[in-house]
Amino acid sequence: MATPVTPPIERFYRHTVREGSCLIWTSTFAGTKSRRPQFRATTKMSEPKVYAHRWIYEQVVGPIPEGYEIDHTCKDGRCVEVAHLEAVPPAVNQSRERQILCTRGLHDLSSPENCRWDNKGRRRGCIQCKRAATAARYRRNKGGQ
Ligand SMILES: [Zn+2]
Ligand SMILES: [Zn+2]
Repeated sequence: MATPVTPPIERFYRHTVREGSCLIWTSTFAGTKSRRPQFRATTKMSEPKVYAHRWIYEQVVGPIPEGYEIDHTCKDGRCVEVAHLEAVPPAVNQSRERQILCTRGLHDLSSPENCRWDNKGRRRGCIQCKRAATAARYRRNKGGQ
């Protein structure tokens, strides 16, 4: 009798441990700068290893669009909880970690003082650009008189 093959998804969850709302990868990691969870979906040693967070995302949510990265919304790179994973274009992932730039790419809108806010507390553009535009209009009007 052949030994029953453990489904990959079952083997996947054996490598995890629950920490609060996060599901932490306990198996191997790859990479030097940012360590990413690594997983071999088959038992064949010839098969390449894949990134665990990308693999589980594709199993549960669906295919990751070409060139997209998986962003950890909980900011824990060891986490493979699907609810914490989001497929984003590479640029979005970087700007989230650093800053949110205004539409002209000049000002950091992650600083609240750089933002215009509406009465519902939503960002409504860049206050610096708005000031610059107002000042330019003022200069133009003065110059025309
Ligand atoms: Zn998490
Ligand atoms: Zn601006």
